[in-house]
Parts: sequence; structure tokens; C-alpha cells
Amino acid sequence: MNKLDTSLVSSALVQGGFALTDRVGEADVVLINTCSVREHAEQRVFSQLGHLKHIKESRPELVVGVIGCMAQRLGDELLQHQAVDIVCGPAEISRISSLLLETLRQKKKTLATTERIRSKAADEQNQALEEFESAHSGRDEQIPGQAFVRAMRGCNNFCAFCIVPYVRGPEVSRPPDVILEQIRRLADQGVRQVTLLGQTVNSYKYQVNGKTWSLADLLGAASDIAGIEWLKFVTSYPSQEFFDDILHVMAGSPKVCEYLHLPAQSGSDRILRAMNRHYSSRQYLELLDRARAIVPGIAIAGDFIVGFPGETDEDFQATADLLQKAAYKNAFIFKYSPRPGTAADRRLQDTVPAEIKQKRNVELLAVQEKISDKLGRDFLGKQVKVLVEGLSKKSHVNVDADQNPQLVGRTAGEWIVVFNGPAALAGQFANVRISATSPLTLFGEPV
Ligand code: SAM
Ligand code: SF4
Repeated sequence: MNKLDTSLVSSALVQGGFALTDRVGEADVVLINTCSVREHAEQRVFSQLGHLKHIKESRPELVVGVIGCMAQRLGDELLQHQAVDIVCGPAEISRISSLLLETLRQKKKTLATTERIRSKAADEQNQALEEFESAHSGRDEQIPGQAFVRAMRGCNNFCAFCIVPYVRGPEVSRPPDVILEQIRRLADQGVRQVTLLGQTVNSYKYQVNGKTWSLADLLGAASDIAGIEWLKFVTSYPSQEFFDDILHVMAGSPKVCEYLHLPAQSGSDRILRAMNRHYSSRQYLELLDRARAIVPGIAIAGDFIVGFPGETDEDFQATADLLQKAAYKNAFIFKYSPRPGTAADRRLQDTVPAEIKQKRNVELLAVQEKISDKLGRDFLGKQVKVLVEGLSKKSHVNVDADQNPQLVGRTAGEWIVVFNGPAALAGQFANVRISATSPLTLFGEPV
């Protein structure tokens, strides 16, 4: 979501007459797009701001803007920071060019956050965001051939630990015709893979002309767009209601990638209730069984939080058991981080000590590593189709690196694949035979 916002803002600034640079030393304006999901992400922003404050001592004319969720969460408090000139929340980014011009001209601090963000967004604001999104949607400049398209804004779920509903506002599904038009335009620009985004993207719902569009409908219609070869969607919520139809579309369309990101957060029913997640571990595992029955071979990824308030050794063991049973392709594991204003922070004490969180994090990662390793080995000797992202971090290591540097790409199931080939393959599909594996990466040769 933040990558998408960054690319929308970059595109708007270029159209507004600004030129982009990623060197602070060359910039008249520095923008930091921020995340509030965990405290650590916010601390990193503060350390960046400390650095920028230092730079501003010798270059006082440098303008620094903070955009994104942290801007919305902290508002005026952030504007008080010596380094900060602009604070702009995620629902206000359509104003970014004018905010910058205003600040540059008037040399005064500017605050653009949304008051009462949970009240139904005013039509005007929604309209402005829609226009902004449609006008600036484009290819991912970092990864050729790919693009993100927002299906939904905001979230109404209020998981007890999560800041998102407070900073991104209520759930709003975007009109299907607008989304499809965006995808058509991206296909014309050479995009081959589109990823639809939403916090609970499987519950996408939009009523128009007597028809209610679901994510399954949207994926079906997007599959008809010539040029688009792969469609992905993140993130899904483990809900009974919005599930089977989507998987049937996945099973029936070669374009809808056989990949599901379905965070569980915990394997303990007691903790799931305290987290305000509306399913039990048994129901969650049944969903995985259903997914695998409808789409054999589907790759599934999960998210977990360790050290949620009150998590005992038994609760943690239940999570480790669920992880074993789920047989994820990979899992993202986070240590609980209290977020001011969330239900967990207001009502519960952060009881699990940091070292226990760390220990549980390491243990879960070790369990997952074994599972990923085993699943990865199944690819040995097989041929996989990969959408090539570009040069790998070790692109220069092989002997003929100038002609066949090391490239990195992903399969439809989001497996990372590394192989040597011409750099011009970036943004294209390639077939790769897998000859070695590690828990997170497959290695091979182009066929
Ligand atoms: N909407 C998605 C969902 O329902 O799972 C994910 C949204 S959240 C931005 C991404 C992940 O961050 C979550 O799945 C959760 O595991 C983690 N997360 C959210 N709040 C957290 C917190 N307070 N502490 C640690 N991890 C957190
Ligand atoms: Fe946060 Fe829960 Fe919404 Fe995901 S579904 S964004 S975890 S509140």
C-alpha cells in the first residue's frame, strides 16, 4: 500500500513540474512516506528526521515533508519537530503538489491531516482521491512489468492490535469500472502483472447498476484484459463468506495466480478472541483445506504476531502447532508492538517481556524455515515460469556477469527464483529449471 502511495505521489510531483532525485544532497524537498503498524518503523523515521535536522542546520531552505500513516497518527505533534515542514496524511495525498508549492513559497509549516477520519469520507474527498489515483496510476518504476492497483481503501475490522483503521479510515471499495480501466491502461504500458490491494481485499464489494461486484467478479473481468498475464491480490482476511468464489476463479483462470496471503496472527483461540479476529484456529485450518481442495498446489503465506498481551507458553505452542499444520510457503512473523489508541493498548498490558517475544519469534521462524525448505525441495529438477524483476543483489558475482548477470524473479506462487540471464529479461517472463534450493529462494538455469 505504501509503495503504491509513493509511486502515486512521485507521479503527481513529476506532473507538477518537480524532478525526482534519490540523493538528499541534491534535493530541495525531501518526502518520507511512513508506516505506523509497528513502533520500530516510526522510530526509524524519527532517526531519519534527526539526520535531516542536522542537514537543515547548513541548508535551512530544505523542505521536509512526512506523508502516510505516521503523519495522520501524530499530526501536529510531528509538525513541531524542528526538521518537519509538511505533515500530510494518506487521505490528503492528492494535495501533495499544491502543499509543496505553498510551503516553498510561503516558507511556513503546513498540516494536512483528516479530522474524524472514521466518519464516512466526504464525497468530495473520495472524489479527489479517486481522480488522483486514476490520473497517477502507473507502472512500478522499481520493478518493470508490474503494478499495484488499489481495490479498497481503509479497514473496518478493528483487530485489537492494529492501527490501520485509525489512520487509513473506513473501508471503501473502489468502482470496478475505474479499476478495470486502470488495469487496461497499465496493460497498454506493458504491465504484465497487476496486484490488487486492500487490507481485507477478499471482502471487496461494490454495487452498481443492480449488480454487486465481488473480488471474484473483479478478478474474472480483469482476466479478460489482453496483455495482463498474472493477477495477484493481497491481503485476505480468513472469512467464511468471501472465500470459495475467489478460489474457483483462481482454479478456472490461468491468469489468477495460485497464491493466497491469509494472515492467521495466532493459533490460540483465546488469543484470537482477545485480538478480535473472528475465527478459531480450527476454522482457519478448514479454510486452508478448502483452498487446497479447490486449487491444488496453491501457495499460501501467513502472518503471525508473537507476544500479544497475555500470550502464555501454551498459547504460543498452539501457534507453533498451527504453523506446522498450515504448511505455508512462507510466514511473516512480528513481535507485538503496542500502538497508541488501539483496543489492545487501551485495555491490555504489554505483559510479554521483550526477550520472550524475541525467543518466540526465533522459534517460529525456525519451524517455518524447515517447512519452506521442504516445500522448496519439491521444485528440484522442475521447470518454473518466472516474471523477472531485475538484477539480484549479487548480479556481478558470476564470470560472465556483463552478459548474464544474476537475475531475480518470482513465480506465480511468489517463490523467489535466482538465475543468470540477460538483464533485458527484466519485466519479461522466463522459464527456469530449478537446480538448488534454500528455504526462501530457488536457484536455477534459464531453459
Ligand atoms: N490487513 C492485513 C490483515 O488483516 O492481516 C494486514 C495488515 S497489517 C498492516 C500487516 C501485518 O502487520 C498484520 O498481519 C500483523 O501480523 C502485523 N501487525 C499489525 N499490527 C501489529 C502490531 N501492533 N504489532 C505487531 N505486528 C502487527
Ligand atoms: Fe488491521 Fe485487522 Fe484491518 Fe488487517 S483486518 S488492517 S490487521 S484491523
